[in-house]
Amino acid sequence: TAFYQHRRVLVIGLAKSGFAAAKLLHELGAIVTVNDQKSFEENSKAKQLEQEGIRVICGGHPPELLDEPFDFVVKNPGIPYTNPIVKKALEKGLPVVTEVELAYHISEAPFIGITGSNGKTTTTTLIYEMLQAGGKEPLLAGNIGLVACEVAKKAKADQWLVTELSSFQLAGIREFRPHISVLLNIFDAHLDYHGTKEAYAQAKANIFKNQTKEDYAVVNADDELVMQLAENIQAQKILFSTTKVLEHGAYIKDRMVYWNDEKVIAVSDIVLPGKHNLENILAAISAAKLAGVDNEAIHQVLTTFTGVKHRLQYVDTIDGRRFFNDSKATNILATQKALAAFENDAVILLAGGLDRGNEFDALLPYLRNVKAIILFGQTAPKIARIAKQAGIETIEYVDNVEKAVPVAYRLSQPGDVILLSPACASWDQYKTFEQRGDIFINAVHKLK
Ligand code: ADP
Repeated sequence: TAFYQHRRVLVIGLAKSGFAAAKLLHELGAIVTVNDQKSFEENSKAKQLEQEGIRVICGGHPPELLDEPFDFVVKNPGIPYTNPIVKKALEKGLPVVTEVELAYHISEAPFIGITGSNGKTTTTTLIYEMLQAGGKEPLLAGNIGLVACEVAKKAKADQWLVTELSSFQLAGIREFRPHISVLLNIFDAHLDYHGTKEAYAQAKANIFKNQTKEDYAVVNADDELVMQLAENIQAQKILFSTTKVLEHGAYIKDRMVYWNDEKVIAVSDIVLPGKHNLENILAAISAAKLAGVDNEAIHQVLTTFTGVKHRLQYVDTIDGRRFFNDSKATNILATQKALAAFENDAVILLAGGLDRGNEFDALLPYLRNVKAIILFGQTAPKIARIAKQAGIETIEYVDNVEKAVPVAYRLSQPGDVILLSPACASWDQYKTFEQRGDIFINAVHKLK
């Protein structure tokens, strides 16, 4: 960490991660300048940093800032590389990194890094829980935990830093090297930021780039693009598959989950629903086994873990109706996964939200066992059209999620699954998908 002393660093973007990075660098003796889009007046974080003696420049990202001599730039993962100030930094040959790079440099603990288009948070949480149950005292960083560099400060050598990594974060690494990396899957997402699918995939593949023979890469053998990206990596490749019996790694044979030739758990004993979650589970088992967790601890987690909040989260059973909160399903793909998880149940689906201009035809094949659909938000008419095509007789419009819950209950019978999986972002009616999910949960509890 002596490296950072007297270094001149520009931190661009003052969200949670920029704030943590600025504070950390300041503590390490770097000469920090922070730059944020928001004006100083509406920026409580900027004020706080200034009080601590950090230089703060607010109200835009003027490229001229880079006429000053800086040693490197830490940028918020959400700021695109096309932003003029970032472009100029790159043109000047400055290293432009994200906060995980700092975390890596200061951490005494090894990293388990998890990435993919979908399933990151679930898999990260599962790995964390398994390590915890196995007595490994892991630390959680990323979306669900704290900012990585904040957690890394406290990490001891015998702990593990379990870190969820977005492609935005991975695009900005130079030396970051997880001891165990996990690449779950790659779908067409976030293309607007990365430009092309290749660039997006390349950012994900960055997770392998500094790994050596002593490290492990856990990769999804069922995802062709993932396998391609992992073709020539240095790390020891550990495969998982929900469809093929493998010689090594995590796989399923006769409804039993195996790690190499060990039986870990019967599929029927796993609480978390859905085939997609089985992928996350196999990935998590692989990482946990590589970190030295025993089967008993893994078994215990998988028989009790009911899901991460808002991600196909089991909420409650009321008079025989099971309620699931999948508010995180902000796109069609996620709702497809949720419906596929309940393909053997009668489902009442609650859906709708922000209209991004897309159509919902891709839902059609997944609506076979949906007996009623309750719609709200801007996309309600569009989804209703598809529901009619699917032959769903009961299609109801309501004002919002809160009102949808009692309507769903009225239409249901014991044994039904009542599922909030909106297939849309929440911003037409709610601040966040978390708020939407919390409202759903509260409305379910009110039924009692
Ligand atoms: P992320 O953190 O990558 O956004 P989450 O674990 O929060 O992923 O899951 C978000 C949604 O993505 C879930 O509700 C589910 O619909 C879908 N999903 C989760 N895991 C997978 C997977 N392995 N493959 C495909 N879709 C998945």
